[in-house]
Amino acid sequence: MGETQYIFYAEWYDPMSATVKKFQLSFFPRDKSVEMYDLRAQRLFLKRLPVDGVEERDLYLGNTIVILSRQLKLTDYADATTREQITSRRQRTFAMVKPDAVHRLGEVIDVIQSRDFEISQMKMVQLLRSQAAAFYQEHEGRPFFEPLLDYITSGPVVAMELITTNAVKKWRETLGPTDSEVARQDSPETVRAKFGKDKQSNAAHGSDSDTSATREIEFFFPSSKVNDVMVPQTIAHLSHNTCCIIKPHTIAAGNMGGILNAIKEEGFDISALQMFRMDKIQAEEFLEVYKGVVSEYPGMVQQLMSGPSVALEITSIHGDETPIKFREFVGPADPVVAKELRPHSIRARFGEDKVKNAVHCSDLPDDGPLEVEYFFKILQ
Ligand code: GDP
Ligand code: MG
Repeated sequence: MGETQYIFYAEWYDPMSATVKKFQLSFFPRDKSVEMYDLRAQRLFLKRLPVDGVEERDLYLGNTIVILSRQLKLTDYADATTREQITSRRQRTFAMVKPDAVHRLGEVIDVIQSRDFEISQMKMVQLLRSQAAAFYQEHEGRPFFEPLLDYITSGPVVAMELITTNAVKKWRETLGPTDSEVARQDSPETVRAKFGKDKQSNAAHGSDSDTSATREIEFFFPSSKVNDVMVPQTIAHLSHNTCCIIKPHTIAAGNMGGILNAIKEEGFDISALQMFRMDKIQAEEFLEVYKGVVSEYPGMVQQLMSGPSVALEITSIHGDETPIKFREFVGPADPVVAKELRPHSIRARFGEDKVKNAVHCSDLPDDGPLEVEYFFKILQ
């Protein structure tokens, strides 16, 4: 048996020549090394080399990985073995944290991450009644249908696409029985047992089959840009707010739940939330004010484009003092300094270094609404 390798076709947009370069890319899980072959020039482009920051779980169609500062999009499998292995390992399912459990979102995400689900799409939305009725159309006519619509539109929900091996079955098992009271009797470790109340208010949703998973993911996260009133949209308050971005390294390390818990415990509210994948242009644009001002700028751009990040709109009872109060809670930019001066701060607890400092947070009160607008209006 030879060494395991996954082979993909990948594309990179070369801004120098303004052309798309096509490669065959091999990944060797044993030492996380990569080899690249330039398909047009028909020559080895990169001799096998261990790369930092690329993991086996990053390898799937449509994903973008960063190798030697280049964003490469994986466009196809280059052999049948890679196709089989990757598709069975990466089943998708749809999960939704329902209104009664959104105040415990961080804890639900801790469960999701501890069971090795990858969260690949995520957004908080307030469902319209018409949207809720369409989502739950299979239950139309049942006695619990109207109460179900009341409940599911009673506050925001958090929709997610989850990926793992046998994701549909695994998430249903993690959820537990429909009735939270039954769940507490029969399977006390499940999400519905821990966070739900009864047969209706049961904390979270999970697709019951591969077919419904596909439909439900498409319902919340349409694969093509459609301007349809039935697609639930994220809405931010856009005033008295500040912006926080949970950085890619934090999510990869499984600390998203911990950060959401910390934000809640400190008394801040999350009024909008969405996962984004920023490309180089967006990351540079967003971080423009730091260009030439802080020496970490190139690293900050690299970090933001290295994987999914989660943008949050933060509000609080502090009103227009919110940006200042939240900035204090985030702590000094350098986690080493933060650990000394503000050990309770987010960066002291979750940061690694000046670039991997857990979260981005608006600097000045005036920037907050602008940054929130960037994510929740401009990028929509
Ligand atoms: P699920 O697939 O486990 O979520 O359960 P179903 O597809 O059967 O029902 C959808 C949702 O409707 C459930 O998660 C509950 O929130 C709600 N529901 C289901 N059955 C009942 C019921 O008998 N009474 C009430 N009030 N709500 C129910
Ligand atoms: Mg169901």
